[in-house]
Amino acid sequence: MIDLSNPAVVRGILERHGLRLSKGLGQNFLINPTVCPRMAEASGAAETGGVLEIGPGIGVLTRELARVSRKVVAVELDQRLLPVLGETLGDCPNVELVQGDIMKLDLHRLVREKFEGKRICVCANLPYYITSPVVMSLLESGLPLSSVTVMVQREAAQRLCAPPGGRACGAVSVSVHYHSQPQILFGVSRGSFLPPPRVESAVIRFQMREEPPVAVDSEAMLFRVARAAFSQRRKTAANAISAGLNLPKEQVAGALEAIGAGAAARAEQLTLEQLAALANTLTSSRILSEEAFL
Ligand code: SAM
Repeated sequence: MIDLSNPAVVRGILERHGLRLSKGLGQNFLINPTVCPRMAEASGAAETGGVLEIGPGIGVLTRELARVSRKVVAVELDQRLLPVLGETLGDCPNVELVQGDIMKLDLHRLVREKFEGKRICVCANLPYYITSPVVMSLLESGLPLSSVTVMVQREAAQRLCAPPGGRACGAVSVSVHYHSQPQILFGVSRGSFLPPPRVESAVIRFQMREEPPVAVDSEAMLFRVARAAFSQRRKTAANAISAGLNLPKEQVAGALEAIGAGAAARAEQLTLEQLAALANTLTSSRILSEEAFL
């Protein structure tokens, strides 16, 4: 059986196909033999209707996913890798390859057509240049996902998983925690890749929530308030929200007092529950109206 975590085998395949790896496409392939089985196991792929993989490369993670899951659909942007994948996945009949850009594909249609509406998971060693937009659009997509398990830069992992109400949090933390329960599973060293990237990596899993953890009158309002609050981190939340949403500062400060956070609170001191209560207070007291943003 082909061993895609053996650097000599990988180099041989690339040479035979006359391929040079593209830095621009984030082509750092996994060669640590323990990482792909751990990722495939942790993704929960065995218990779902299938797996969507982003960027199969030459198929090292794809093969592990094919081993544990009934169906794998792998989306690869680089056309040059398709003949290679045809070869390395030739003995995996439950893998389907799609050539395309994950940022541009209609994922609702893809999932409907390839998985017949079943609940699936996502598992990928993501190209780092699109980590945040891919993760955020998956979490906010409303796709039938049970979890998203991805390899990202270590710093991105820490930022994405930081809970609201802690020093490292930002507006994305609010959305991440609203839609999922994130967890850093394990770190991965630079030497686990060919070629080694400049930074350390980590595997994170977002377990999708069936119900949101807080009740809000409008999700859109919660995210608008969060974005405004974190847009100017040196200011108090009242100042940042009042400037970002063009609202009278006294009223925002009053709403912060009303929810028990204090008028001088900063965005990173507000928990998800407090941000939800703030968005609800601003909307119900008509300080903030949905129409104002239409
Ligand atoms: N899964 C392989 C592994 O673990 O060795 C390769 C991972 S490599 C970090 C990222 C892969 O994503 C590359 O194969 C790259 O060509 C592909 N890729 C880059 N941008 C993409 C995009 N916008 N849509 C789909 N695939 C993309």
